[in-house]
Amino acid sequence: MNDEAVSANTAPCAGMFGPAPRRATRQVRIGKVRVGGDAPVVVQSMTNTDTADVASTTKQVAELWRAGSELVRVTVNTPEAAAAVPRIVEKLAMMGVEVPIIGDFHYNGHQLLANEPACAEALAKYRINPGNVGFGKKRDTQFAQLVEFAIRHGKPVRIGANWGSLDQALAAKLMDENHALAVPLDAAEVLREALIRSALDSAARAVEIGLPADRIILSAKVSGVQELVAVYREMSRRSDFALHLGLTEAGIGSKGIVASSAALGVLLQEGIGDTIRISLTPEPGQSRTTEVIVAQELLQTMGLRAFTPMVTACPGCGRTTSSFFQELAKTVQEHVRAKMPEWKVTHPGAENLTLAVMGCVVNGPGESRHANIGISLPGTGEAPSAPVFVDGEKTVTLRGEHIAREFVALIDGYVERKFAAATRPG
Ligand code: SF4
Repeated sequence: MNDEAVSANTAPCAGMFGPAPRRATRQVRIGKVRVGGDAPVVVQSMTNTDTADVASTTKQVAELWRAGSELVRVTVNTPEAAAAVPRIVEKLAMMGVEVPIIGDFHYNGHQLLANEPACAEALAKYRINPGNVGFGKKRDTQFAQLVEFAIRHGKPVRIGANWGSLDQALAAKLMDENHALAVPLDAAEVLREALIRSALDSAARAVEIGLPADRIILSAKVSGVQELVAVYREMSRRSDFALHLGLTEAGIGSKGIVASSAALGVLLQEGIGDTIRISLTPEPGQSRTTEVIVAQELLQTMGLRAFTPMVTACPGCGRTTSSFFQELAKTVQEHVRAKMPEWKVTHPGAENLTLAVMGCVVNGPGESRHANIGISLPGTGEAPSAPVFVDGEKTVTLRGEHIAREFVALIDGYVERKFAAATRPG
């Protein structure tokens, strides 16, 4: 997706009850995608295939991009992975997949980039973990080498500190300094400061070496919700680098989704964060694209961006005796999500459509009237008919076996009428 398309999807301001204005950060260009400044919050993800496996990695990057990931990161951990990167980027271009690929480097990044200039050139951004670039005396040299590669190839970098690979030398130094204080800080506070300083000092060092500040994105990930909020509030207060938000090792299933949404939701509400990744552990057999959908839904439900029509559905209760209502809500959500890649081109604005699928007359008609299109299904003991509301007006009542098909056709017809004109001449 190009940056123009990203901008076009920006949701209108949510007004006085919406998020705080975004914190002013320096804008960074990653290929055609803008991050920070006045750009919308960008969704990104990471593959879990072996990067050396060109076919699998290309396939997964394409899937993540189709799901809406605007940047995709791949691990570059071996000479084989580094050699595969240019081939992956070439294949994606041939498939029409226009997504910037970010290389994730640890320990041996400086060697891999030196030995594979084509990889250094094909990547749109390098991720450097200051706690993992090397040990002892080699750390500073190898960090400088990575930054010099970025300068030479004109690439931005993310300096991504991580709780699990905290710079131990820096942590020990800050601990010693703390012990010498008349009133020492809590050890947890010192370690938090070490994480923040690891990111900020590394960024200052990169600028000193010659990397422009508008080619640097920062992150400092931890796995605890409250800790992450505290770390990013402080990073945002102390710098104007664009910030990549993510709760590291968020976990599997609902726990990972809830923890990530809680942490990132608080920060985004405060205007902190320029790009997000939801680090979910996929359930066995689950698609990697779930993390992209969760990131989009987080931004859309907060009113920050719009990606796909949102379906409001009641939870159901004892008044809904069949599963039809749940099936209809699922059918509608899946239908609009599947149509959205096409609508994005042919019917721009369709992503702002609101839909309601309600289980009975208690809240059904009221909620349906608030949506662009809503349906109120019959609850137990109610007449077997389903009134449909379009822009607040009851337009038709559906009955019989084909309610789902007919309701979906009404949605498609509405999108056709309301959103097609903008792209058609005359
Ligand atoms: S709208 Fe009706 S079916 Fe849905 S939760 Fe409320 S009372 Fe129950």
